[in-house]
Amino acid sequence: MDIKSLVKPNVRSLNAYEAKEIPCKVKLDANESPYGFRNAIKAADKILTNRYPDPEAKALRGLIAKKFKVKPENLLFGNGSDELIYYLITTFGGPVLYPTPTFSMYGIISQALGERKVEIPLDREFDLDIEKMLGAIKKFKPRLIFISSPNNPTGNCFSSEKILKILSLVTRHSSLVVVDEAYQPFASEEGFLPMLKDYKNLIILRTLSKIGLAGLRVGFMIADEEIINEANKVRLPFNINSLSQAVAAEALKHRKAMDSYIKAVASERERLFDELSKINGTTPYPTEANFILFKTENPDRIYSRLLKKGVLVRNLNSLVKGCLRVTVGTPEENREFLNAIRKCLKKEN
Ligand SMILES: *Cc1c(COP(=O)(O)O)cnc(C)c1O
Repeated sequence: MDIKSLVKPNVRSLNAYEAKEIPCKVKLDANESPYGFRNAIKAADKILTNRYPDPEAKALRGLIAKKFKVKPENLLFGNGSDELIYYLITTFGGPVLYPTPTFSMYGIISQALGERKVEIPLDREFDLDIEKMLGAIKKFKPRLIFISSPNNPTGNCFSSEKILKILSLVTRHSSLVVVDEAYQPFASEEGFLPMLKDYKNLIILRTLSKIGLAGLRVGFMIADEEIINEANKVRLPFNINSLSQAVAAEALKHRKAMDSYIKAVASERERLFDELSKINGTTPYPTEANFILFKTENPDRIYSRLLKKGVLVRNLNSLVKGCLRVTVGTPEENREFLNAIRKCLKKEN
């Protein structure tokens, strides 16, 4: 039997997302936080393994609502914000428009669901090419527009004026704008939460993954109640498991620690950026996230040499020519990365 011929064409042409575990000593490839919340795991003691989790994640919902000063009805939780991207495209369909390069899941999920993708290249500063974006919105009338700001993998925030221009235009064209703020905690500006009251078609995506809880898979979206209610129809009933709900709720109570970890990462990022600027052979791009995209000669070779020394970064050469991406780690990890790349580059010359 030819299994391939049974697969839907849009899935047949898809490649599985590469998320293999690559053994290494210093792991700086996935934009995780170097700081976890191991002591929050004790909250899992009380959960009942024989019972289904709370389908509404009430305790966690209450904490997040308070933290972001929104109503519980304006929240929808996902098994990571990845799942919410899935739910949004399932609920509203395509065309799905987004700038490139950006987070790969917008395209992968659109294709998995058989929806049309419209990709608009960023300008030379990695900012939105506003003329092309507005033109494409008028032409393709996308149902959903995904904007990751700060953007993964470039690291920069897009100009707020440009995002606002898009929001104003699409109000008339009936599109929804999803501002994916996975890295907002590390950014200098406040993000688009305050805009929710002015734009009914704005959706904000957030996640706990980049601030120390990636293993729990908890993401959430903040939007108008009507949007939440529609997307909630396609949500699987028990999508956030009991362990994740309990441990995430406990970790969120350690607010001081969480804030200080975020600050530590942001200040290390500045140091790492300065050091990378000083190295002959690497050029970092400005970043507001917990990672740095940098240009280097022979990125494929530097990537492999770094890995040989036990340092894992992300090779983005095929997506952003000449570039690697390094996640900000602990001061010690960053030192090891810097020493390793200095040696790798020396060999190069
Ligand atoms: C990491 C990332 C996510 C996914 O986060 P999860 O909550 O772990 O699924 C979403 N958007 C962007 C831009 C990311 O980089």
